[in-house]
Amino acid sequence: MESSTFKDLYLSRNLEKAIKELGFEEPTPIQSKAIPFILEGRDVIGQAQTGTGKTAAFGIPALEMVNSRSKKTQVLVLCPTRELANQVADEIGKLGKYTGTKILAVYGGQNIDRQIKVLKRGVQIVIGTPGRVLDHIERKTLNLNSVQMFVLDEADEMLDMGFREDIESIFASIPEGRQTILFSATMPKPIMKLTKKYQQNPELVKTIHKVVTVPNMEQAYFEVKHHMKPDILCRMIDIHDVKSCLVFCNTKKMVDELVLKLKNRGYLTDGLHGDMKQNQREKVMGSFRNGEIEILVATDVAARGIDVENIEVVFNFDMPQDEESYVHRIGRTGRAGRQGIAFTFVTAREIYKIKNIQKYTRTKIKCRKVPTRSDAEDFKANMLAKRVKETVDEGHLGKYIHWVEKMLDEDCTSMDVAAGLVKIMLSENK
Ligand code: AMP
Repeated sequence: MESSTFKDLYLSRNLEKAIKELGFEEPTPIQSKAIPFILEGRDVIGQAQTGTGKTAAFGIPALEMVNSRSKKTQVLVLCPTRELANQVADEIGKLGKYTGTKILAVYGGQNIDRQIKVLKRGVQIVIGTPGRVLDHIERKTLNLNSVQMFVLDEADEMLDMGFREDIESIFASIPEGRQTILFSATMPKPIMKLTKKYQQNPELVKTIHKVVTVPNMEQAYFEVKHHMKPDILCRMIDIHDVKSCLVFCNTKKMVDELVLKLKNRGYLTDGLHGDMKQNQREKVMGSFRNGEIEILVATDVAARGIDVENIEVVFNFDMPQDEESYVHRIGRTGRAGRQGIAFTFVTAREIYKIKNIQKYTRTKIKCRKVPTRSDAEDFKANMLAKRVKETVDEGHLGKYIHWVEKMLDEDCTSMDVAAGLVKIMLSENK
C-alpha cells in the first residue's frame, strides 16, 4: 500500500509537474501512507505534526479529486488558526498551480465582503477557520452541498480552542456521503469520539518508528532565521575549518540554490539530487572523495548512495521531515573510529522537532549559540596570524621586506601596513 516515489502514486501530469517544481523528491512517510487511502476514497485519520508534509498528504488527493470544470465547492478544509489556513491555502495553491483549481482561505478578522465576492465567482477548495466558515454557511454565501471531501486539520488544536460545536454544525451542512479526513498530532479521547461519530471505517495512518541507535557523536542545534541559514553555514564552516562536510536540504530546489550561493562565495562545493544521471552523480562523488569538493549538498534520496569516509560534519541545513531521517543523515559522519559532528539548523517553529528527535534517539542535542560574524572574523584573523608566524619562521623574506620598507616611506607605520594587509586578506576571504 505504501508508495516510496511520487510515480507510484500515478498522479495527474499537472500535479506531477508542480511537485517537481517545488523540488519534492519523494513522498514523506505520512504522504506515502495517507495518499493512496485518500485517493481510494477512504476516510483517514492521520496522526502527524506540522513539518511532516501533512498538508500535501491531503492537498494532493484533494486536488486530484476536484473537478475544475465545476465551480462548486468540492473540498472544505478546517484549520484552527488564520495562520494555518493561509499556510494550507499557499501550499495547496502551489501544488495546484497547473490544475486551474480555485482556492480560497476564509478566516475571521478579514473583510467578509471580499470573501463573499470571491466565493460567488466559484471556489473549489475552501480552507477556513470554523467560526468564519459557519458565518458563511449561515449567510448562505458558502454552499456545501457538493462537498465530497471534508478535512479537519490539527483537529486536536481545534477542539482545545473550543470549536467543537462549530465543527459539529459544519458537519451537519455537508452531505452524508462525503469523505472525511482528520489530521491530528495527538489522539485524545475527544478526537476518538469525533472520528467514531463522523467517520466511516477510517484508516489510521501514522509513521511507526523503528528502534535505532545513534552513534556516539557531538550533536548540537542552532536556532536560526530561515533567510540567515546560508550565512551561518559559511561562518560555521570557516570557524571549524571544515574540509569535508555533508549538507542536507529537503528539496532539490534548495540544493541548487544553496550550491549556487556557496559557489559564489568561493567555496568548493557541488550538489547531489535524485534527478541527476548516474554518471553525473559518480563524478560529483569522486570529486568529494578526493577533496576537490569540500561541501557536498544533498537531498535524503541522493545521500542514500553516499559512502565516503571521513566526513567531519553533517549539517542539517533543513530540519529532516521525520526522526528516522535525522538518524540516517547523521550516521554519515564519524566513521572509522572518529567522533563525528552533527549540526542542525532549526527555525523557531521547528523546535518541538528537536525534542521529538531527542526522545526518539534517547540522546541529547545541545542548544548552541550561533557564531556571530565577528566570531568568524576573529577566527580568520587568528588563522592568519598563525600563517604569518610560520612564514616569518621559514625566513627568505628579503624582497618582501624591501616592499614593506617602500610602504613605510609613504608615511605609514609598520603597524598601519600590517593592519592594512590583514584587512585586505580578511575581506578577500569573506
Ligand atoms: P507541513 O507538514 O504540511 O507543514 O509541511 C512542511 C514543509 O514540508 C512544507 O514547507 C512543505 O512544502 C514541505 N514538504 C511537503 N512535502 C514534501 C516532500 N515530499 N518533500 C520535501 N518537502 C516537502
